Amino acid sequence: MRGHSLQDIQPLSFPGLENGQPLVIAGPCSAETEQQTLDTARALSAMGVRVFRAGIWKPRTLPGGFEGVGDKGLQWLRRVQQETGMAVATEVANAQHVRAALDAGIDILWVGARTSANPFAMQDIAEALQGHDHVTVLVKNPLTTDLDLWIGAIQRLLNAGISRLGAVHRGFSSAGAHIYRNDPQWHIPFELRRQATGMTILCDPSHIGGKREYVEPIAQQALDMGFDGLMIESHCDPDSALSDSAQQVTPVVLKEILGRLVVRSGLPIEDELALLRQQIDDCDHELLAVLARRMSVSREIGLFKKAHNLRVLQPARYQQVINARLEEGQHLGLNGDFTQLIMQAIHEESVRQQLLL
Ligand code: PEP
Ligand code: MN
Repeated sequence: MRGHSLQDIQPLSFPGLENGQPLVIAGPCSAETEQQTLDTARALSAMGVRVFRAGIWKPRTLPGGFEGVGDKGLQWLRRVQQETGMAVATEVANAQHVRAALDAGIDILWVGARTSANPFAMQDIAEALQGHDHVTVLVKNPLTTDLDLWIGAIQRLLNAGISRLGAVHRGFSSAGAHIYRNDPQWHIPFELRRQATGMTILCDPSHIGGKREYVEPIAQQALDMGFDGLMIESHCDPDSALSDSAQQVTPVVLKEILGRLVVRSGLPIEDELALLRQQIDDCDHELLAVLARRMSVSREIGLFKKAHNLRVLQPARYQQVINARLEEGQHLGLNGDFTQLIMQAIHEESVRQQLLL
């Protein structure tokens, strides 16, 4: 199924989630043990989270770190699904991961930042997904600030017939010391939004911030900027987490954070534009109504002149009107030539109306 464009991507929906409410995906960076996975999932489910995340194949920058529990974690995710009814999500980095996750009935697969940057890996993943269009796939932005690479990764999935697609903004690697672990470069997801208007775009404040105290302010900023939801790392015991310990929060803390986040009634950019256009339409309606009223007054004057045998055109009066309007227009900040042109056109039409009588 070739030929689908970014603009064909529709918003994601999940059972139990109201449209318009931010989508929250939460769970540990990594599934470490069955106990840790289930404890975290139960706590998140109890507070109303409907989508659970946990990495089981972990791409690590340096070898020797915790590289995930692998395939056995899929069964833990199955238990989460069955026990809590949450949808479950895990990261896939190659075709083998995709096949294993599909076989295990995982609902959502996400492609991480190190994989979305690699067109060969993306092509393999897309081909492994072919024919499985029921599955939801989220694409995190590549580590580098190259929007085309992100779009290319999404496009490969679209070309494979995957239509349940979303994107996750997780910030970008940058050299030098920064407060945040990954630089947000908000203009890049904004540009993706412009090119894929209907696509669900989430923000991952955990990987952007890199520290738990940054999760809330970045999450709020993302909501204020119209992101459709959040992917947040939450672990039942963050300090003992085997990966990304510093940025994970307990389910209790996550509940507090989510409780404080304000979902503003502010509308997405496109709706704001629609509102402004509505104002223009309203102004034009007013203008036309005023013009119609003015012509009707002109005709009344015309009838009066006719009844009293007066000339239609009275140059002194006309000059007086133009001068007064020019001055008034100037006070209102209107360009003089423009005011003159408009007033001339109105006057001409008034005269024409009176001559018709
Ligand atoms: C993750 O979500 O745990 C992860 C590895 O993310 P990213 O690919 O954004 O680094
Ligand atoms: Mn992580």
